[in-house]
Amino acid sequence: MDEGMDEGTPFFLDCHVDTIIKVVDDGGDFIHGIPDGQVDLPRLEKAGVGVLFFACWVDPGYLPDRCFERVNELIDGVEALVATNPDKIGLARTMQEARDIQATGKLAVVLGVEGGHAIEGDLGKLLHLADRGVRYMTLTWNNHLSWAESCQKPTESSPKGLTDFGREVVRTMARHGMVVDLAHVSPQTFDDVLIMDVPAPIDSHTAARSICDHCRNLSDMQIEALATRGGALGLTLVPGFLSSQSETADLDLAVTHALHILSVGGSDVLGIGSDYDGIDRAPIGLEDCSKLAQLGASIAENAELCPEDLKKIAHGNLMRVFEAWEV
Ligand SMILES: [Zn+2]
Repeated sequence: MDEGMDEGTPFFLDCHVDTIIKVVDDGGDFIHGIPDGQVDLPRLEKAGVGVLFFACWVDPGYLPDRCFERVNELIDGVEALVATNPDKIGLARTMQEARDIQATGKLAVVLGVEGGHAIEGDLGKLLHLADRGVRYMTLTWNNHLSWAESCQKPTESSPKGLTDFGREVVRTMARHGMVVDLAHVSPQTFDDVLIMDVPAPIDSHTAARSICDHCRNLSDMQIEALATRGGALGLTLVPGFLSSQSETADLDLAVTHALHILSVGGSDVLGIGSDYDGIDRAPIGLEDCSKLAQLGASIAENAELCPEDLKKIAHGNLMRVFEAWEV
């Protein structure tokens, strides 16, 4: 039984899952099922997910000089997964490729990098990642970099927002078709990127700060600014970002965040970026990726979305932004 799916249901895109770490480090069987995980192919198919971004997250434990090696190891893992299962999944470098792969009934996977420390302060390493097909990079994770401030408390050595080198990173990303992801950055870094002469950025996994006051969430002003700029965001399902009482986070609360983002930013900004497999416990009713169809259906029902707007939220908004960066 495929709940919530019928002829008119658009495919879903999840902009942020950490699953490749489970595959590479723990030998998780993505194709047949990862019972202790939240994402695998059978459950993605059940939910109608057609495009999946593998976030290659670099644990800061790899600092100072093993981050680049680690991110390449995770990318190797994605490539190996695709190479051994060409009948089931395909690696997309462009959104047209993703649509083409999806249209054949396969899962389109796209590479993302989480944590700008992956490039070890070296634009040559950034270019290497772009060459390998990485289509987005969060400027920071929860650690400050010498060139970009994260959303965590400032330290004596952390920069205010983006430095000149940080701007060079952003411009280099734009020249090579790698989307700037503002998840995890500070409000100042966010503002510094928004005024740059590059295409509109994304925030791959976030929620509404006016509903849950967490530093990882976006304020109404930020949601509005991102929408006005033409960017998009992925609604995250991290329980602690949905509610300060994270154990109570559930499907209804995720829908409340979505409705708020729609009311503040309109129908062109919202997408999905679950962070499944980056969280120990998922919200009640959204236990794993098979529930994304229910999430889409609940948002559509509560917001009284027309089919066109549901399509935008399911995949269209984020794909539009990625397309705008393609070179
Ligand atoms: Zn994250």
